[in-house]
Amino acid sequence: MASHSKSAERLLRQIRYAPGITRHELADTLGVSVTTVNPVVSKLMDDRLITEVIPAKADRQGIGRPRAGLTLPGKVETLATLIWGHGGLSTAVVTFDNRVLWSDRVAVDGVLTTEQLVESARTILTTAAKLDGVNAPRILTLGLPAPYEPGVGLGQPDTSDTRHGRDGFASWFRADPRQLLADELKIRVAAENDANLGALGETHFGAARGARAAIYVKLSGQGIGSGLTINGKLFAGSHGFAGEIAHVRVDDDSRIICSCGSRGCLEEKIGPNMLQQLHVNYGDEITYADLLSMIEQDMPGPTRLLQDAGRVAGRALADMCTFFNPNVLVLDAGTTRASEVLIDGVSEQIAQSAPPFARRGLTLKPAELGEMASTLGSVVFARGSALGTSVSV
Ligand SMILES: [Zn+2]
Repeated sequence: MASHSKSAERLLRQIRYAPGITRHELADTLGVSVTTVNPVVSKLMDDRLITEVIPAKADRQGIGRPRAGLTLPGKVETLATLIWGHGGLSTAVVTFDNRVLWSDRVAVDGVLTTEQLVESARTILTTAAKLDGVNAPRILTLGLPAPYEPGVGLGQPDTSDTRHGRDGFASWFRADPRQLLADELKIRVAAENDANLGALGETHFGAARGARAAIYVKLSGQGIGSGLTINGKLFAGSHGFAGEIAHVRVDDDSRIICSCGSRGCLEEKIGPNMLQQLHVNYGDEITYADLLSMIEQDMPGPTRLLQDAGRVAGRALADMCTFFNPNVLVLDAGTTRASEVLIDGVSEQIAQSAPPFARRGLTLKPAELGEMASTLGSVVFARGSALGTSVSV
């Protein structure tokens, strides 16, 4: 292969990890003008190293307008995603233009063991190896259900966490788990909090698309998580704790010490404890999935419970909206209907507790991507990792 200029190499790398990118997007990403990009693109097309196509209607992702995108010929790059959170483990093989080639989700009751973690990751890679027309994943993204700090792992004190059973988090999460997986599977690993990945997904492809500042909130039977984005980039704070809404204090009189070491955290009110309020009239065995199905049937009691959860979370979110001034607040309670019910409670609190200037231009939206938010957010995250460009502000 002929040697290329540095700018051509840079451009090829971008197209490899962002197939379908337009000339304008390429120019934006590289921080140059389209007139600078055009001759390099033309030369690479003449050399048959890239092609420019308008995707057929059936192949579009339903996102945005049809566009002439640049791609590399031959096999496409993939990433492996492994998201642990909200009571399940989601695994997938995804292309860098967001095609989910294979996916699976299994329930995880309590702690994910080291063996489960490694075996699940191995399954993704062996599955990917059997797929036609793709290169083996060069990167594995790991989504984790707690604040994650690169080089440290679990970014909160080493205490039992009732959300995940009395043993708390698995030992592999008490150190940075990237090295463990990299050693076992000989693959590059990038890790991030699952709600932060969800925030990236909804901001790039879902309900918060194009938002200048967005808050993403995910509620399940396991707890509540949230992520913040600014101009499509993640704001994780100095140690990855930003958006850790579960541990915002909402009850000064609480008598329960939280897993985080504080007291009166939001999680105490609307995590697993929330379902206990249904036990007397709906049975002890009720799960969050049961709650969702009862809400689909418009049953008043369960609907009330989720509205109340929205009011409790909304009190904290109202302050965040005043402070952060987002234009979109995306809520995912598991289904669109449940998200709408949650929004009812949240918006009531925001109307009461946030000043008019914070409410101006603020839209509350149900999530559009559901469980796929973190998986698609992983594509954005993995691309940043592959190209060495930060997806965080
Ligand atoms: Zn706490």
